Amino acid sequence: MSRAQNHSILIVEDEPSIASFVAMYLKRAGFAVRVAVTGEDAIEQAAAEAPSLIVLDLMLPDLDGIDVCRRVRQRSDVPMLMLTARDDDIDKIIGLEVGADDYLTKPFNPGELVARVKSILRRASPERRELESAYLEHGDLSIDAGRREVTVGDEEIQLAPKEFDLLWELLDHQGLVLNRDQLLERVWGYTFAGDTRTVDVHVRQLRRKLGNASPIVTVWGVGYKVSAEPKVARAS
Ligand code: CA
Repeated sequence: MSRAQNHSILIVEDEPSIASFVAMYLKRAGFAVRVAVTGEDAIEQAAAEAPSLIVLDLMLPDLDGIDVCRRVRQRSDVPMLMLTARDDDIDKIIGLEVGADDYLTKPFNPGELVARVKSILRRASPERRELESAYLEHGDLSIDAGRREVTVGDEEIQLAPKEFDLLWELLDHQGLVLNRDQLLERVWGYTFAGDTRTVDVHVRQLRRKLGNASPIVTVWGVGYKVSAEPKVARAS
């Protein structure tokens, strides 16, 4: 029996052809599937059914998918995979504090959708979180993997899930240069040919949120690394 059978997926999509297509592939992979066709319905089902993961279309008849994502997030840590028809939504989805775990641009390959759903669920599993009860520091920056908390000095910084994972991966390999493909594989669990923009967008957001405390250095033509510990006396 595959582990997928323990997981239920909520598909939020108003377009019947896409919803049934996605549902078919997920069922075939062993998942239990429910469908919501409006944003309000999605928020209700997310609360009532506690799905393992939500596949959420950005364009819905009543609410914007981003608002749905935010409202679900107020009450739940359920992983979310966003679907978008527009390339320019990507910064919004993964960059802002929306908290989506991943996205796919329409039209997408359903096999890839299933692979990403599995990858997100694997990474969201409690066993993995327990393993990560560790703590890293860099200058004024502290990250607590167990609590998933990032602070600069006394201030807590809110990071999207993948921003957190990317920062952790870089800090955990301090001094080593990781290329974009390696980061995609380690943080997102797969590589998708040529789409390294995801990594760059997340790095840009991390720099914006962390300001001077950002330890990330661009290594031109290669990737990113974490700088050596800054030799600055800490004001007390
Ligand atoms: Ca739609």
